[in-house]
Amino acid sequence: MQFIDLAEQYRLLKDEIDSNIGKVLNHGKFIMGPEVTELEQKLAEFAGVKHAVTCSNGTDALLMPLMAWGIGKGDAVFTTPFTFIATSEVISLLGATPVFVDIDINTYNIDPERLNAAIQKTIDEGKLTSRAVIPVDLFGLPADYDEIGAIADKYGIKVLEDAAQGFGAVYKGRRAGSFGNAAGTSFFPAKPLGCYGDGGAILTNDDELAAELKSIRLHGQGADKYENVRIGLNARLDTLQAAILLAKLKDFSHEIILRNTVAAKYTAGLGKRVVTPYVPSGLMSAWAQFSVLAKDAEERESLQARLKKAGIPTGVYYPKPLHLQTAYASLGYKEGDFPNAEYVSRRIFSLPMHPYLKDETIELIIKVICSDSSENKIA
Ligand SMILES: *Cc1c(COP(=O)(O)O)cnc(C)c1O
Repeated sequence: MQFIDLAEQYRLLKDEIDSNIGKVLNHGKFIMGPEVTELEQKLAEFAGVKHAVTCSNGTDALLMPLMAWGIGKGDAVFTTPFTFIATSEVISLLGATPVFVDIDINTYNIDPERLNAAIQKTIDEGKLTSRAVIPVDLFGLPADYDEIGAIADKYGIKVLEDAAQGFGAVYKGRRAGSFGNAAGTSFFPAKPLGCYGDGGAILTNDDELAAELKSIRLHGQGADKYENVRIGLNARLDTLQAAILLAKLKDFSHEIILRNTVAAKYTAGLGKRVVTPYVPSGLMSAWAQFSVLAKDAEERESLQARLKKAGIPTGVYYPKPLHLQTAYASLGYKEGDFPNAEYVSRRIFSLPMHPYLKDETIELIIKVICSDSSENKIA
């Protein structure tokens, strides 16, 4: 059994994917070919924004807007400690300081009330300038953008949505990738919309920002290739990956519905045995992961072992919150600083999730997890 099965998707979309790849091999425009522009139009349309700027990966998709905003030394960028390291890494790469804010215990996303308090504290301390917040759509569930947006407006800071896991999700009638001043997403193969290598995109309604991002992506290019108006990156998306994504994007909203069907079956079958994901009303997750909470670390270990024995792969996202990582030792955080992130990281584990998970597989997974239900059932 696969944790994320990409083979079935390829089998279903093979004709279109192969034909799109063939077209690129024939025209030979491997860098910034016509598929890149076409994909950018379709991504923007899908997310309901004016601009999509594709790029090399999801990490660069977060780095580039921060570069465009001139964020650097002395600046504070707020984010969650319960995410993949890329979210905070981009802040540190620019010399700015990540200021972690604990998560909401139900959604596992950044807690707006605690965000407000953290910004106020940073202002009161007077050492760092508050510049931006990076909320993460963890496991595919959008963060609370109404609340976060109001707080960001109050303090005059930017919002950069980390939609690496959330692309395809919906928040109150709007697609993920359309929130804040810009959003970065990833097309890493295992993400809800994945290519066959590395890829990413930035989505925004800001014309000026989109133009700057296109320059940053090409070594800070000005009017032509050999005029450089800023320090940039080599951060283009390969034409081949764009061609693959064009084929996959056609089926993507259907795949999101299939993922939601899988999630509903898991939730119905597992809800009495483990803590299943909470989706606030008006939101739809893209289900990058289906993650559940065990009672404690010990129970997690035994459930994972039992699943493994039955041939069912699981994963832990994330076993150690970022504030406790060695890479961030210099920030001076300690155990106990973010109790919710620490609580969840000790108990969480993820089950196989992809649009083509079969009913009998879902039923088997539920059966294995609930096989001790008579002793452990939560009333
Ligand atoms: C995957 C991921 C990224 C980085 O994307 P890459 O394409 O791997 O660089 C950033 N943030 C989150 C939350 C992710 O899951």
